[in-house]
Amino acid sequence: MEQIRTTAPRRDGAANGQGAQSPRIVIIGAGPTGLAAGYRLRELGHTNFVMLEAREKVGGLASSETSPNGFVYDIGGHVLFSHYEYFDKLFDKLLGDEYQLLLRESWVWMCDRFLPYPFQNNIKYLPREVVLECLMGLIEAQREPLDLARFRNFEELIYGVFGKGIAKYFMMPYNFKVWAHPPAMMNKEWIGERVSVVDIARVLGNVVLDRDDAGWGPNSTFKYPRHGGTGGLFARMQPYVQDNLRLESPVAGVDIEAKEVLLRDGSRERYDMLLSTMPLDLLVQSMSSGEVPPVVREQAARLRHSGSHIVGVGLEQPAPSKKCWMYFPEGSSPFYRVTYLSNYSPEVVPDASRNYSLLAEISHSEFKPDDRDTVIERTVQGMVNTQLLKDADRADIVDTFLIERDYTYPTPSLERDPALAVLHPWLESRDIYSRGRFGAWRYEVGNMDHSVAQGVEWVNRVIQGDVQNELTYLAKRGC
Ligand SMILES: Cc1cc2nc3c(=O)[nH]c(=O)nc-3n(C[C@H](O)[C@H](O)[C@H](O)COP(=O)(O)OP(=O)(O)OC[C@H]3O[C@@H](n4cnc5c(N)ncnc54)[C@H](O)[C@@H]3O)c2cc1C
Repeated sequence: MEQIRTTAPRRDGAANGQGAQSPRIVIIGAGPTGLAAGYRLRELGHTNFVMLEAREKVGGLASSETSPNGFVYDIGGHVLFSHYEYFDKLFDKLLGDEYQLLLRESWVWMCDRFLPYPFQNNIKYLPREVVLECLMGLIEAQREPLDLARFRNFEELIYGVFGKGIAKYFMMPYNFKVWAHPPAMMNKEWIGERVSVVDIARVLGNVVLDRDDAGWGPNSTFKYPRHGGTGGLFARMQPYVQDNLRLESPVAGVDIEAKEVLLRDGSRERYDMLLSTMPLDLLVQSMSSGEVPPVVREQAARLRHSGSHIVGVGLEQPAPSKKCWMYFPEGSSPFYRVTYLSNYSPEVVPDASRNYSLLAEISHSEFKPDDRDTVIERTVQGMVNTQLLKDADRADIVDTFLIERDYTYPTPSLERDPALAVLHPWLESRDIYSRGRFGAWRYEVGNMDHSVAQGVEWVNRVIQGDVQNELTYLAKRGC
């Protein structure tokens, strides 16, 4: 991404800053993407915009909630890892030294034990017959030269790369738990650096030599705000966009002919350009039907997503572990991941010498319904089943908290890329730009740093005329 510029070249027909020629921009959503776009607009001196946020606070999925008992919970475990210098500078500016630098420690719970992540490099910890099954599967899978092009979907890739054993014990059940969609319905293009593929010599070496192997992935150290959870970072962007921000202002629809955003309270906001970070399918649904070609509606309806129940559990005990987060592929718990959130910052619990907190994530979709009324009890029972808690610890649970969101993971389904190829160009032909985790609907560029980058790069494009530079949204940065 571009470095911060202080003077901005003018775009044809559109002026920077205020004035009669300045294009009116409406931003839907004050999550990381919208906030970053607003921040960048002001950085470039463009103040003719309004940011409409449905909720009472900024941050979107990267905000945090405080329970009545004073425990702070994120909307699922958020690990900050930046691919961008701009993001790093912004982080430093907003937080100074008020952050924790943490060493990643992630684990997988399987066969009644924890093994270090990534699973495939640490199968030596499993029962011998499972180790054998995993190794035999890997050897069989790797008899054929690896040709990713021959796999038609994520399930075929799992079996083709990892073999039957690893597929059976980890990859298939874990991915269904996370995505709440069968891997056969998902494409393989989203994977990039997110799934550690298998180096068979390394796997065999680790087993035979009894070697630990936890060093994989981009996030071996990560930063976490000292105050306010993950949301503490984005809350600090609010003052920079305050003059343009309308909280508790849900958007009900978009009139593309009049170029107006319709708010639920009946008011309207006119735009020359609209940046939407609300879910793309809902954006299209919100447009009056006569204005939207049937093919656009059809493609929007083909996008798939999952939602989450996020369960926070606070205990009146000192933290029993230094672990960061753990994956749970098995059926003994409803959650796919649990974070020792209080290991990220002592400020997320009322008193770190006496309290710790756990944060569990449970996904749901039409393929994997989850009952919100029983999810807290099932989560606590799952924590007992997986030995995170003992039955006796139930007496020390002083806080439970449920966060519900219907849109948390934009599924990289087989239909996604053909649908996006119709939706984005049509929207842009109407001066509507859909960006961010659920705006772009590209999971592979849907993390916090990517979202900030999408907001900034969009502004660079429409205000500075930097047409070639929306690389993050196009997922062309190799992230
Ligand atoms: C479970 C989970 C775990 C995650 N873990 C990580 C992680 O480890 N690392 C990482 O970097 N990222 C992580 N993320 C991703 C991170 O949360 C996103 O990158 C980021 O929040 C996306 O920002 P956004 O602005 O694009 O979208 P959002 O955060 O979804 O913000 C969109 C905003 O638009 C508002 N809005 C929606 N509809 C309307 C409407 N009709 N009118 C007005 N406002 C509206 C919403 O209220 C929201 O504030 C995780 C996300 C989840 C759900």
